[in-house]
Amino acid sequence: MDLSLICPECKKDCKVFKGTISYSQCCSQCKKNYVMNDGILQFVEDKNTETWDTYWKRTPVYDDIMDVLRKMMNVQLRRYLTKQIPTGSLTLEPGSGSAYVSAMLAEKGFQAYALDYAFMPLSMARKQGNKAQLIQGDLFNTPFMSNTFDLTFNNSTLEHFPNPLDALKEMSRVTKPGKYVFVGVPFTYGPLAAYKLKKSSFKGAWDGTTYDRQGLKKLFQDAGLEVVGSRTFFFRCFVGVLGRKIGAN
Ligand SMILES: [Zn+2]
Repeated sequence: MDLSLICPECKKDCKVFKGTISYSQCCSQCKKNYVMNDGILQFVEDKNTETWDTYWKRTPVYDDIMDVLRKMMNVQLRRYLTKQIPTGSLTLEPGSGSAYVSAMLAEKGFQAYALDYAFMPLSMARKQGNKAQLIQGDLFNTPFMSNTFDLTFNNSTLEHFPNPLDALKEMSRVTKPGKYVFVGVPFTYGPLAAYKLKKSSFKGAWDGTTYDRQGLKKLFQDAGLEVVGSRTFFFRCFVGVLGRKIGAN
């Protein structure tokens, strides 16, 4: 890991996190201890991730059909995203789940970082040989310094939160001025909108919001991002907006 990370608790620059991390690390400011587990640096405690771990257990991650569809979608997304930035750029996928796109970016020579609140999908990614740097953390309060990444992106993530603007603002914070933020969410006028998530969800956590282009563009504008483009993808299941960070925040 080449990046210096910051303690999400006190937002102090923690130089101790720089370099190869193979054991527990203590924040020099608040003395909070963060541990490396199975090659994954943990900024949130396991007990907090029970809900998400339950979701990941219930998802047929190894189901063949799902895997083929997911791969198709992620290849589409990777091709689109890599048009925006040169090989070797720093990328971050907050709310990555198993970090499929980040895995492909890492394979293609990008410096790919993936962050998720749940340990299980990251651990699975690790077992599958994912070369991205995997970090367990909170996408609303990430351990990255401001103005770090050339591209910060996620897909099928922000629709699950009641406060997506806060997540997008944090994505913007860690992105370099002039560089890119991409968000993909279920499209209001596509097949996913007809899919009744409610009945199959647990604890209501997966009543994902759907977006039209204008709604998603407005979210970007509210976050202070310049809208560069928008598109639907994967059989119109998702709508995505590419934004650019205008100034440092
Ligand atoms: Zn601290």
